[in-house]
Amino acid sequence: MNPLEAKRHTLAHLLAQAVLESYPEAKLTLGPAIDTGFYYDIDFGDQKVSDADLVTFEKAMRKRLGEWKEFTHEEVSAEKAREVFKGNPYKLELIEEISGRGEPITLYTCGGFTDLCRGGHTAHPAEDIAPDSFALDRVAGAYWRGDETKPMLTRIYGLAFDTKEELDALTAQREEAKKRDHRLLGKELDLFTFSELVGPGLPLWTPKGALMRHLLDAFVWQLRERHGYARVTIPHLTKRALYETSGHWEKFADELFRIETREDKEYAVKPMNCPHHTQIFDRHPHSYREMPQRYAETTMVYRDEQSGELGGLTRVLSITQDDSHVFCRHIQVKEEFFKIWDIIDTFYGAFGFRLRVRLSFHDPAAPERYLGTPEIWANAENALREIASERGADHFEAPGEAAMYGPKLDFMATDSLGREHQVATIQLDMNLPERFDLTCVNEKGEKERIVMIHCAIMGSIERFSAVMLEHTGGNLPLWLSPEQVRIVPIAEAHHAYGKEVAAKLQEAGIRTEIDASNDSLGKRIREAKRQKLPYVLVLGNAEMDAKTVTAESRDHGKLEGLPLDEFSTRLTKEIVEHL
Ligand SMILES: [Zn+2]
Ligand SMILES: [Zn+2]
Repeated sequence: MNPLEAKRHTLAHLLAQAVLESYPEAKLTLGPAIDTGFYYDIDFGDQKVSDADLVTFEKAMRKRLGEWKEFTHEEVSAEKAREVFKGNPYKLELIEEISGRGEPITLYTCGGFTDLCRGGHTAHPAEDIAPDSFALDRVAGAYWRGDETKPMLTRIYGLAFDTKEELDALTAQREEAKKRDHRLLGKELDLFTFSELVGPGLPLWTPKGALMRHLLDAFVWQLRERHGYARVTIPHLTKRALYETSGHWEKFADELFRIETREDKEYAVKPMNCPHHTQIFDRHPHSYREMPQRYAETTMVYRDEQSGELGGLTRVLSITQDDSHVFCRHIQVKEEFFKIWDIIDTFYGAFGFRLRVRLSFHDPAAPERYLGTPEIWANAENALREIASERGADHFEAPGEAAMYGPKLDFMATDSLGREHQVATIQLDMNLPERFDLTCVNEKGEKERIVMIHCAIMGSIERFSAVMLEHTGGNLPLWLSPEQVRIVPIAEAHHAYGKEVAAKLQEAGIRTEIDASNDSLGKRIREAKRQKLPYVLVLGNAEMDAKTVTAESRDHGKLEGLPLDEFSTRLTKEIVEHL
């Protein structure tokens, strides 16, 4: 256990002691260290814990910390342990489990507080833990053992780091993240909305939002076209038979939206596109000369997700995938992966994301979660290992993260707040080609089993938009801004020149609006800035007489007295190059 984890675990004990001082009847359950600190799940019976309680607990923890000189521990019999924790059904359950496994039962004590524990604390808490390096964070509900049929407990979260500075940095990052919440930005920038009548988890995209989506998608297509992808289009419904063949009927059972027709036929709304795409590939036999076949389509899929936090884009029922499937021979896999990887690098590079790659492999302990034989999995996973190391990418392996039909490369993007998000994935699939009997005719005239590569560059437009909006704080790059230039004429006399400039820029394909309202100049400029527009042109006599523009650039400061042509050329370059 690393020292910070030991500190966090120790603080969970300290929290438990502090809680019992105020609530002697509370029943402790489990309290582990986590990524940013620790938590303890506690049964408070009928009592409710408030934010004011957190202040009290935190004070008590600081006060007690000085008394926590050293941990001692003893191994006890199950009988003795049951005596110590009598009246606490949670600890009694844990004791039964530990003794059932034949493991020793240990009690750890520090500062007069004893808990059932396996160890892993900092040896001298009073010396090792800075009193200002931790803070209690929030209260949440959590089921005992994460099982919703079991009692609901109160989870108290704490934050803990080695130093106060690190704690402060996290708090500051969270404050910033709150301001950048994509749900707020979506409203402010007027990109998407929700309707009670349509339902939660079903975002409606406004004209500006739809334009932004289109521009994102067009960029991906521009990159795909260099690599020979062709568009396909499929219906959003299918007969049940397709998913029975693919295996999704069973594996996706809970998330599938089903439809019964008036003729008692069963259809499903597609939760993914791959099975449909196999049927396009399989429309006629393919010679090895025609391989690979690369199909792509930006289309919605629908999943009956359980509604958790709603109102945002990260959890939706209608998901727009920029999906692609490459049908290729085994010998072509590496090259196709590299091509997709290039697309991903260029696309995410344009936003300044830093990427690392997770090799998401199957969990050998749970074969029932996956389709296909162990040999198929071993081959596929070895191929991905080779690809990642040949590419020289920053990568790591994660067993248990694979899709049901094959291993994946998951791209993890670090955003401007230092948070990591899973974004693009490339999946190698040797199972669907088996299930749908997909082949090509090789050089010897024989049928050869092919493989499929699934890839979505953005993953889903909804999720990517959420991540990107928070990453940029709503400052969309010029090429992606629904409105690129706002013209603000200083006075009535400058409106005609403003219109002339707008027309020239629009002619060059630059999305330009003019604010000819009666509001004061200051107010109109403030409004343009609030909307985070990349360029605001303030036009008066000087500009009108010299046929120039003066631009306030959101990202590059003030550009004064620029000839209009020069300004237009400059923006066009910025747009084309996705700067
Ligand atoms: Zn412990
Ligand atoms: Zn797919």
